[in-house]
Amino acid sequence: MPEFDRTYDVLVAGAGVAGVAAAVASARSGLRTALVEKTVLVGGLATAGLIYGYTPLCDGVGHQVTYGIAQELLHLSIRYGPGGVPANWRSPDPQDWGCRYRTSFSPAAFVLALDELLAGAGVELWLDTLVCLPVMEGDRVRGLEVENKSGRGVLRARCLVDATGDADVAYRAGAPCEGADNWLSLWALEASLEGAREAADRDDGTPLMRGVHIGASNTGEGHPPGMRKFSGTDGKDVTDFVLTGRALLRERYQEKQSGPEGRRDLFPLTLPAMAQFRTTRCIVGQTTLRDGMAGRQFDDSVGLVADWCRRGEVWEVPYGSLIPRKVRGLLAAGRCISSTGYAWEVTRVIHAAAHTGEIAGVAASLAVRLETSPDALEVGTLRQQLAEEGIAFHLGDIPGGA
Ligand SMILES: Cc1cc2nc3c(=O)[nH]c(=O)nc-3n(C[C@H](O)[C@H](O)[C@H](O)COP(=O)(O)OP(=O)(O)OC[C@H]3O[C@@H](n4cnc5c(N)ncnc54)[C@H](O)[C@@H]3O)c2cc1C
Repeated sequence: MPEFDRTYDVLVAGAGVAGVAAAVASARSGLRTALVEKTVLVGGLATAGLIYGYTPLCDGVGHQVTYGIAQELLHLSIRYGPGGVPANWRSPDPQDWGCRYRTSFSPAAFVLALDELLAGAGVELWLDTLVCLPVMEGDRVRGLEVENKSGRGVLRARCLVDATGDADVAYRAGAPCEGADNWLSLWALEASLEGAREAADRDDGTPLMRGVHIGASNTGEGHPPGMRKFSGTDGKDVTDFVLTGRALLRERYQEKQSGPEGRRDLFPLTLPAMAQFRTTRCIVGQTTLRDGMAGRQFDDSVGLVADWCRRGEVWEVPYGSLIPRKVRGLLAAGRCISSTGYAWEVTRVIHAAAHTGEIAGVAASLAVRLETSPDALEVGTLRQQLAEEGIAFHLGDIPGGA
């Protein structure tokens, strides 16, 4: 017998930005919504993972393309901490990447704002609760077996969203998935006397929070020569990835702190509380976003995301990329939607994860109300609901767009 057994309308696994957006969208529609998170921090990689750069809501040539909860979260990320949107992001000819509708933020400040958002929307939060196995009825997911301090329990729902970042629920339910290895990366926050002086000189605390980036960029640049790549879906590899990153960080301080004042002048302040994998596993959905699909129009487009690297490139998000194959009653959201190659680069980042989270939450709540499964939901009905919430989903919706 499970230690606890609860039933909801919508159940979201994983409280990264995607899971938060999905749960908020569902709860705001009036449905009983629960959000399950294995750590005690909401926000996922953006908070526990110390990834403090919110990618742009605009196309880089002056047009906003992503709206809704993704936009709300960007502003919440700076509600209790520093950061701001560059005033000239609308400029069609910006000088550098910084001139976009984006911001940097304090991860801790973002957590406080997300807690407030979730409570305000009426989401029932289960922190420190690990999603273990899906509860199946044939090919339909009906709930999740979870584990926490109370023991093993069951949370049931009429529709579920997999926002684990790793497609854990979809994979364990038997849906086809795709994986990818990762270069070594470690982002941490450090404190320095230099930063403190700069903060005092500028009368602005921002320089007190300084990011330190060890290992590779998203293109692999900086990966230690000869080092293997790491899998985010192999339990032992996750440990190796984390410990290898921390060993390299230690080397940085062994070198930098070699003077007498060294360890008082510069030291690590916060380490990531989750493994910083960019791409681990995603669903192979009814539609997969692939290289070269920027600017393509889809009959079932339900959202728009801008490429955070390449100015002027915008991607429509087909509803099929959120729908796993072979499994019903489930949507994917965030970095585990169906994307591959460079398309995964575009859909895995914070603004895109928040956006697909909201879409999944709206779709889940409609599926519950219409007593259907997300794969059978009529896209026109979903688009009508998204339009009422101010979401743009066609390239033609962008002023000056296709
Ligand atoms: C090194 C690095 C640099 C990056 N740089 C940027 C950047 O500058 N800008 C940007 O926008 N993006 C960046 N990203 C990507 C971005 O941070 C993430 O892809 C994005 O935040 C993903 O959000 P998500 O909600 O889909 O997933 P996640 O943030 O991974 O959230 C998933 C959540 O699910 C929880 N979870 C997982 N499994 C379980 C389980 N079994 N039970 C319960 N809970 C579970 C996790 O604890 C987590 O909270 C970077 C990523 C990395 C690794």
